[in-house]
Amino acid sequence: MEKVVIIGSGCAGLTAALYAARANLRPLVLTGHQPGGLLTTTTVVENYPGFPEGIDGYELMTRLQKQAERFGARVKFGSVEAVDLSRQPFGLTVDGEPVTAEIIIIASGASHRHLGLESEHKLENKGVTYCATCDGALPIFRDKPLVVVGGGDSACEEAMYLTRFGSVVHLVHRRDTLRASKIMAERALAHEKVKPIWDSVVTEVLGLKEDKVTGVRLKNLKTNAESVIDCAGVFVAIGHVPNTQLFKGVIDMDESGYIIPTQGTATNVPGVFVAGDCADQVYRQAVTAAGLGCAAAIEAERYLAARNE
Ligand code: NAP
Repeated sequence: MEKVVIIGSGCAGLTAALYAARANLRPLVLTGHQPGGLLTTTTVVENYPGFPEGIDGYELMTRLQKQAERFGARVKFGSVEAVDLSRQPFGLTVDGEPVTAEIIIIASGASHRHLGLESEHKLENKGVTYCATCDGALPIFRDKPLVVVGGGDSACEEAMYLTRFGSVVHLVHRRDTLRASKIMAERALAHEKVKPIWDSVVTEVLGLKEDKVTGVRLKNLKTNAESVIDCAGVFVAIGHVPNTQLFKGVIDMDESGYIIPTQGTATNVPGVFVAGDCADQVYRQAVTAAGLGCAAAIEAERYLAARNE
């Protein structure tokens, strides 16, 4: 039986692993399908304390994993398919294999939100993508007009990154002000290749016949006017949905699926703790996820100590 199983290997999960490992709990980290979490798809992380020049997201997560492993954390590539939290020890099914655990820390993060269009779904990986860092350098996007959808930090970051490859980057946002932090918004809007299209939504991704993205149909929400923009790529950056489906009906969550801790990082199921983006609708930063991962490990350690007394 495992003492501590951590579901997720982003900033929250690996920081929880670091602290649990240093408390001699030999945590088992289950990576999920994206080891290192969403941060591995970011370019430079400029706001993680201690890196004045910024640090590549992938490198940050690789270092964090090594740091946790140095103290005895075990990181296993695998996805949790089912959980049984009805009795202790808890049961998990990981890629078909049973695992039991005294403590579970849920740090399952969040996934990219989709526009929800049929054409978007059909052209996914044929020009529709959710990650500029992963796909932006592909030859199909070189020197072509590109579209980024969204108005937050992610959209601004994606747009800036894509200026390296595209001929022009249309930033399509449903309102007339960006939600992004001031510094990111100003940087994106000041770039000569970034062209904002305000008050507009994508109603269709074009190119089904050609089997690759050729453009987008837009609707202006203020005037209802429709227009078409030619482009080779659509980069959707409209936020995230928490990866908490596994725990629905058992762990308390809000209507969007964000887990609601009862106190600190504890959940309504004693012995199950939560950290990071799957429980954070407000801050969603690497450093806050890391902080909550630390808190969850400390609380888990105290819970175990109290139970063993
Ligand atoms: P976000 O801040 O939630 O922004 C999502 C954007 O997508 C918003 O502008 C929203 O419009 C728009 N949107 C949502 N649903 C939509 C839909 N169905 N159709 C069209 N547009 C839609 O998400 P994010 O940009 O991914 O950022 C998430 C968190 O990560 C934030 O806390 C952010 O600060 C952080 N982050 C930080 C950095 C950095 O500092 N380097 C980089 C990336 C992300 P509205 O504005 O109208 O709601």
